[in-house]
Amino acid sequence: MGILIQNGTVVTAEGSRRSDVLIEGERIAKVAPRIDGSEHRIVDAEGLLVMPGGIDVHTHLDMPFGGTVSADDYRTGTIAAAVGGTTSVIDFALQSRGHTLGEALETWLAKSRDKACIDYSLHMAITDLGPNGESLDEMEAMVAAGVTSFKLFMAYPNVLMIDDGLMFRVMQKAAAIDALCCIHAENGAAIDVVVAQMLAEGKTAPHFHAHSRSAKAEAEATHRAIALAEMTGCAVYIVHLSNEEALRELKHAQRHYHRALAETCTQYLVLSIEDQMPGESWNESKFVFTPPLRKKKNQEPLWRALDDGTLSVVSTDHCPFTTEQKALGRDDFSKIPNGGPGIENRLQILWHFGVNSGRISPERFVELTSTAPAHIFGMTQKGELKPGKDADILLWDPKQRYTIQAATQCMATDYNMFEGWTVQGNARHVFSRGELVVEDGEWIGETGRGRFIARSANAGGFA
Ligand SMILES: [Zn+2]
Repeated sequence: MGILIQNGTVVTAEGSRRSDVLIEGERIAKVAPRIDGSEHRIVDAEGLLVMPGGIDVHTHLDMPFGGTVSADDYRTGTIAAAVGGTTSVIDFALQSRGHTLGEALETWLAKSRDKACIDYSLHMAITDLGPNGESLDEMEAMVAAGVTSFKLFMAYPNVLMIDDGLMFRVMQKAAAIDALCCIHAENGAAIDVVVAQMLAEGKTAPHFHAHSRSAKAEAEATHRAIALAEMTGCAVYIVHLSNEEALRELKHAQRHYHRALAETCTQYLVLSIEDQMPGESWNESKFVFTPPLRKKKNQEPLWRALDDGTLSVVSTDHCPFTTEQKALGRDDFSKIPNGGPGIENRLQILWHFGVNSGRISPERFVELTSTAPAHIFGMTQKGELKPGKDADILLWDPKQRYTIQAATQCMATDYNMFEGWTVQGNARHVFSRGELVVEDGEWIGETGRGRFIARSANAGGFA
């Protein structure tokens, strides 16, 4: 006996049509216009859209940063993801300087073990090559373990930032083993000078964070990262691209170098300096994340780039801190832990402001939130509704109106970046590997049921 999802409209990256979906065990067994239900448990999806579960490829759960640790651990973070319709995340393991990649992987697997509630994978952030380039050799062991993407920070000097030589060597290695390089593109050295000068002038309030990190600093680093990638032939993926200038660099590079991809994040599509960071109150510390909020005029170009394929993915960069944690930077914006909560609201925001407003189609929504992430990051069992794939299935109610509130959310923060917004379209039921884990918007699964996803090395889908 299987589970038969009947009477719904199946929406995939390729198209939409009324179909039934049969789940047997952990996998999808059949997708067809009419499947006989006499032997199966029936789930009625009348009026609902049946889509592959969301994949959020950019999250920071239980991560030490800025003198504290991000507020969601693997339990609360993955439950919040699931309730929002996301069935897989890719989180970041961070190498500590002077330590190996293997140690970082162990540390992050220990954080997730017995806690992750949906399936998850890891990127590895490289901060140190070791005295004899040991980390380069270790990249092969990481790929063998299913960690096939490597993150490099061009920002945060003395903490995470690497120099161009290190980046170039990692890219050469990545090209040789079909790994993907994920780049935080900002000119960290220049930004740090501006930050120090602002603080010396007494500019300590949260909104100066946004003014200290210019769009140009991101555009310059975006250009440089892709140029170095092109010199090595490696596939490169710019994370959290936030503004039109950086977008222009990406677009220009893509004309002659195809292995250049990028994501943007929910917050850059709908929040702005004008609306959230006018420079009036400490409350604006909630919106201190990096890259920072941009001027409103950047939003429409980002939406257009999602529609025309310049941008491939929408992730969240979920990196939650409570208001108490944010207070570490009460007198100095550079000490405010950088990051915001969003893992739970990605699909709601993208559907409401993207699909309902006609900026993207429902099919493109599925591609941006699930199918493309699976393809680019080598998650061969995820991202599609086809026989043999994992039964990670989202039953989406396009009519449901929902008001976003910190008081009712699953994320561990005491605020929400979209507080009080009413959106139309919400996750109703969610299956993870054939198991109903969210029913009528409530988490009903078991803690720790999520499994590590070993990904394949496919050079960002170009191999
Ligand atoms: Zn991040």
